[in-house]
Amino acid sequence: TPVVGVLALQGDVREHQRVLAALGAGTVPVRTADELDRVDALVLPGGESTTMWRLTRSFGLLEPLRRRVAAGMPAFGSCAGMIMLADQLEGGVTGQETVGGMDIVVRRNAFGRQVDSFESDLDFPALADGPPLHAVFIRAPWVEKVGSDVEILARVATDRADSATAGGPDAGRIVAVRHGALLATSFHPELTADARVHALFLDIVKEA
Ligand code: GLN
Repeated sequence: TPVVGVLALQGDVREHQRVLAALGAGTVPVRTADELDRVDALVLPGGESTTMWRLTRSFGLLEPLRRRVAAGMPAFGSCAGMIMLADQLEGGVTGQETVGGMDIVVRRNAFGRQVDSFESDLDFPALADGPPLHAVFIRAPWVEKVGSDVEILARVATDRADSATAGGPDAGRIVAVRHGALLATSFHPELTADARVHALFLDIVKEA
């Protein structure tokens, strides 16, 4: 069985490990370049991406992460993790670097002006059969632009009943994407009971 690391510098590391373990995957925290060498795939958790970026720099992990991702290691980023996997950022701290690898432009704290945090049900056709995915957004980014090889997996429903701005600027925004072996969500599948997004990631890991 593949070993899935969880980047463990900052963020909701244990929540991801709990879901991965429940699905039968081997999982270890990753804090050093040596630990990164030993995993087959990596989850970048939700948290705070400016802190995560600064810590990857000071732990000497940013370049090793870039090399592994460029070499095809499957990776899944939720929220701050999505920000870390984006090739380009809009908004937020000037000069903030990313691991990159996904041909997407991500806007940090994108939903923040309407509502800092919300929950919403998403259509997510790439997931195994079941109800719409209940998604938790916490000061979430959205994907502003995607390159031609990026698959859009989910958008915020245009008729979100819970939206502060139904039919407004957040409706239809891209919140889940896949680019090759890289997967990213604006929301936190590690915080809800539904394990289908992690299961999708483990399928990607097995394919790779
Ligand atoms: N707002 C955070 C950031 O920009 C991400 C929030 C999250 O991961 N829940 O890093």
